[in-house]
Amino acid sequence: MQSQRGRTALITGSTSGIGLGIAEAFARQGGNIVLNGFGDAAQIETLRAGLESKHGVQVAYDGADMSSAAAIEAMMKRAVERFGGVDILVNNAGIQHVAPVDDFPVSKWDAIIAINLSAAFHTTRAALPAMKKRGFGRVINIASAHALVASPFKSAYVAAKHGIAGFTKTVALEVAEQNITVNAICPGYVLTPLVQKQIPDTARARGISEEEVVKNVLLAAQPTKKFVTVEQVASLAVYLTTDDAASITGAILPVEGGWTAH
Ligand code: NAD
Repeated sequence: MQSQRGRTALITGSTSGIGLGIAEAFARQGGNIVLNGFGDAAQIETLRAGLESKHGVQVAYDGADMSSAAAIEAMMKRAVERFGGVDILVNNAGIQHVAPVDDFPVSKWDAIIAINLSAAFHTTRAALPAMKKRGFGRVINIASAHALVASPFKSAYVAAKHGIAGFTKTVALEVAEQNITVNAICPGYVLTPLVQKQIPDTARARGISEEEVVKNVLLAAQPTKKFVTVEQVASLAVYLTTDDAASITGAILPVEGGWTAH
């Protein structure tokens, strides 16, 4: 795979799960990293320093809250100050809440739309000027199979993910002539904390056991009957940043074990 040396990738929500896997994959290729996300400060510092020493790259951590436009603007400014610009932007931070729509807490709706959808608008609008100046940019939005199909009890998440697919296509058209590509990766179920947390809620909402949720709800949707791995998603993300992938833009790319082929 093409080296990422000299490039900077900012990955939102990269203290855990898919985002962390993507950060590790970019660091392995020699790219500088801006980590973002919540968690225990000491653990995050261990992670940051570990990536730096293992891969000989610069790794910054920014704890900006992706539900705040002002915090995102400040984070993007700090990234430009430190690295001169963000060459690769991965909009990955996301949360989930599972409940019937007439019971869906308004605060959860607002948070999911802010973090899973609006944050990508705020990071992208801040990242594009430096990308245009450098004549190179890659924006990768981690959407979901739920950007293509729905599941009950996930109204906010499905709305946000369908929204990110539309946003991806629109921005791709706007910057297509400037060597900036904008794509969405749509994973199926990956066994990260985000999925682990929703198993008990789904069991409650459907009145079934947690084992039945995994077998009959989550993996029932995936013809492969296997969870997608973090490494599989990260590897596609890295590929999208290469010169070979320069003609892939505005694409909504499923990595979901055949789920949306149904
Ligand atoms: P995760 O819970 O393991 O990680 C989420 C990350 O986002 C964490 O680093 C967390 O700290 C961060 N985060 C949450 N709220 C934040 C906020 N307000 N500001 C900044 N950071 C915040 O989840 P994951 O499964 O790795 O999910 C990552 C992305 O992948 C999400 O957008 C999710 O919708 C998407 N996705 C996940 C799956 C799956 O099965 N796990 C499937 C399809 C899509």
